[in-house]
Amino acid sequence: MAINQMDIKKLFSYSAGQCNICKRNVIEDDVVIGEMAHIIAKSPKGPRGNGNTPRNDTYDNLILLCSIDHKKVDSRPSDYPEHCLRKIKSKHEADITARLNRNREYEQDLSSLNVLFEFIPFLNLREMAMDLPHKLSLDFDIPDVSFNFRKGNPQAYPFWDKKLTRLWETFLLDAEVIENFTLSNICGDKFYAFGEFRTDYTCYNTYVGDDQGNFVVINKRFLSHEQIDLVEQTMTPLVQNFIYSHRELVNYIRFQFKDIKW
Ligand SMILES: [Zn+2]
Repeated sequence: MAINQMDIKKLFSYSAGQCNICKRNVIEDDVVIGEMAHIIAKSPKGPRGNGNTPRNDTYDNLILLCSIDHKKVDSRPSDYPEHCLRKIKSKHEADITARLNRNREYEQDLSSLNVLFEFIPFLNLREMAMDLPHKLSLDFDIPDVSFNFRKGNPQAYPFWDKKLTRLWETFLLDAEVIENFTLSNICGDKFYAFGEFRTDYTCYNTYVGDDQGNFVVINKRFLSHEQIDLVEQTMTPLVQNFIYSHRELVNYIRFQFKDIKW
């Protein structure tokens, strides 16, 4: 009985056209060098033949092998008993599925990063942060971009790559701390969140917009020297944290996502 077309398709596609043992492609230059080997021979006296086991030409009883490995498993059936061939087949097919999934996940993460970096000038962020504590570009609006991305693409986040997600979260948190600080008020020698004021002190915005509307700058007009010193002292470790987490993320993306469009 000839092998059914559906079984042939299943066998070749689940194995990604590779010999299940040596992983060689079973079709080379339009020549089929692969063979659909029987796990249990059709003849009771053939390799692994057993009068009690049903022998057939279905996908279940076949394994895709190159001609060399086919010869090996059939000439030394005791080295390749039935359970061993079944294990080789199921492991090979599971590896193929896992590889396909990994590729899909990689492509999805790559495309998410490319979308994010269309809106975040990612490689310039370090330089932007270095302008602190004196000024910060308004293009440094990472939390907003990230929030809108997640809202528009709920399936894309968290990233498939767990380490990427972890590094991104830290980076985002450090960026948020910086942005929130530029929205703070300073009252005496204490900072308060945006919109929060103390009544026993005169409060000023820690940062204000510059004349061109491109940056926020330290509110030098209203802050005392002591307060400016305090802003500088407070901002310095925040910037260091941010630069560190940004660098970690850049390095990881460079290493892991070589096709990234920054
Ligand atoms: Zn082979």
